[in-house]
Amino acid sequence: MTSFNDEYSLLAPGPVNLHPEVRKALALPMIHHRTPEFDVILKRVLAGIRQVFQTKEDVYLLSCTGSGGLEALLVNVISPGDKVLAIVSGKFGERWAEMAKTFGADVSIINVPWGETVNPKDVEAHLQRLPETRAVLCQACETSTAVAHPIQKLAEIISGFPETLFLVDAITALGAYSLPMDEWKIDGLVAGSQKAFMLPTGMAFISFSKKAQAFFEKATCPRFYFDVRKEKKANASGETFFSSNVTILRALDVVLNLINKQGLESLFHAIHRRAEFTRIFAQQLGFTLYAKSPSDSVTALVVPTTMDGQKIRLELEETHNITIMGGQDQAKGKIIRIGHMGYIQDHELLKLIDNLGQVLRKFDPGSLTLEQISMVVNDGKQWLENNP
Ligand SMILES: *Cc1c(COP(=O)(O)O)cnc(C)c1O
Repeated sequence: MTSFNDEYSLLAPGPVNLHPEVRKALALPMIHHRTPEFDVILKRVLAGIRQVFQTKEDVYLLSCTGSGGLEALLVNVISPGDKVLAIVSGKFGERWAEMAKTFGADVSIINVPWGETVNPKDVEAHLQRLPETRAVLCQACETSTAVAHPIQKLAEIISGFPETLFLVDAITALGAYSLPMDEWKIDGLVAGSQKAFMLPTGMAFISFSKKAQAFFEKATCPRFYFDVRKEKKANASGETFFSSNVTILRALDVVLNLINKQGLESLFHAIHRRAEFTRIFAQQLGFTLYAKSPSDSVTALVVPTTMDGQKIRLELEETHNITIMGGQDQAKGKIIRIGHMGYIQDHELLKLIDNLGQVLRKFDPGSLTLEQISMVVNDGKQWLENNP
């Protein structure tokens, strides 16, 4: 049984460990969203979150999970019958393509083998053939495979096509590594509260480029809850259109303040450092990396062929009080996935490596000696000290 005390590590690629200040904010007494107290918070959050999106455009704060944000990106800019190109490189890419089909888009798919990145030339060739394509859909980080796609390169290509918008699912990327929306010319971007934003599940944050905003009126997809035109108007008068998610927005205010104090670059560095550490020392234990171009937000490790990833995951949780994730679909049992977003301290990283070693030893006593495990952990400790 997992005990949810301060020794518990939630190292999933979302939801994530919460910062103590965030936990405090979540415990505050409820206030109404139409109050001067909340008005101040909403105003500050609407202004502050642009810094993480690295945009001058409006960012909308939606009460829904990340998937609602993906739907909002689509329905505000596409119309039934529009051609859409979906890059499918894992579970989340599959789902977004399905969603676009559900809204009547004429969806073409570039299938990318799991663990690999899309070749930008394939996207370019597709758009040259079908320049009327309304949107290209891609994950910045495909969380099911831990792959980071070449977003800057793709944006550079797509921005050359005047009819085509580049919509990016950055639910495990925005806030974990740099994705400057304006500079790179990304047309639609979605982030999720429980992933890189280090909050509980329940909100999605989205933004559109000017090029995308021009489609708000032209798009004929049915939309009501996710009609950003209503949200834009409400935000302009200092409100959200529906009831505000007071609890999460107050916690977001805390997160933005923490990011502001730390600096975006320093936040990205901290996440990169955890990813580097995990990649180096998990490989020393005998795992290999699943992603050819690994994301800093999550690491996918191929487990030794004699073992079952699901069992490793369970054992780590039941015996060592650490939650990580297994693989989905075709990667089920073959990989484990470790998240690097959220409030993670160095001692948790060392414990993770130590405990992973012990779990491997439990399932295959010949795989590692106790001395080998403690050597890897000691090297890890040195590395953390030498790489602040
Ligand atoms: C988690 C995730 C989603 C889905 O988000 P929900 O909050 O579960 O709706 C979509 N895309 C990616 C890349 C994700 O990591």
